[in-house]
Amino acid sequence: MDAREIATNVSKVRDRIADAAAAAGRDPECVALLAVSKTKPAAMVRAAAEAGLHAFGENYLQDAETKIEELRDLGLEWHFIGPLQSNKTRTIAANFDWVHSVDRLKIARRLSEQRPEALGPLNICLQVNISGEPSKSGVLPGQVPDLAATVASLPGITLRGLMAIPAPETDPVKQRQPFAALRHLLESLSDSLPHLDTLSMGMSSDLEAAIAEGATIVRVGTDLFGARQ
Ligand SMILES: *Cc1c(COP(=O)(O)O)cnc(C)c1O
Repeated sequence: MDAREIATNVSKVRDRIADAAAAAGRDPECVALLAVSKTKPAAMVRAAAEAGLHAFGENYLQDAETKIEELRDLGLEWHFIGPLQSNKTRTIAANFDWVHSVDRLKIARRLSEQRPEALGPLNICLQVNISGEPSKSGVLPGQVPDLAATVASLPGITLRGLMAIPAPETDPVKQRQPFAALRHLLESLSDSLPHLDTLSMGMSSDLEAAIAEGATIVRVGTDLFGARQ
């Protein structure tokens, strides 16, 4: 996909975000677009940055490291959104600005301890298994309050909110249910953790439903960069 095509896609996705925000009576400025560049080459990230995007999401550490290095001159913001393994936390803590996929205390502790102090605290979302699917990653909703309270007290990270990847659903009405559940869960934390401000939810096929339910970050890959192999 060439730079012109990427620029067109960026403006189409921006229009969808603006329309969905308007339909929900929300300010479109309150919905950040995270461009999911996993498996895509650095040149495509550069083209998206030239089209005005600033935040990029990656799932695979090795693939991400090369791109982060190659694109250092652009001063981009990098978000880790993939499955986390203990032996990868040090590299993630040193190279990323956000991690959306924290689902256990051990990982949160390591990220906190390994975050280089000069970079300031790492922004964290807890990944919630909001559809309760047996084999899915993410903490179960009932375990979120305890985990959130402990994670919020760690010095090297800042707990910002919750993230979810619901089970695929094509009906726009049904798409909203898990997003509404994630919003309610965040609201239920607000008494004890009033600073939480992030709902990372919505991808290429369901960003409208997520924005209707309060998404503050939508994570879009396919509709910006094309299908992945
Ligand atoms: C791949 C991925 C996305 C982007 O999905 P698209 O359907 O390509 O927009 C968003 N979030 C996470 C966690 C992903 O792994």
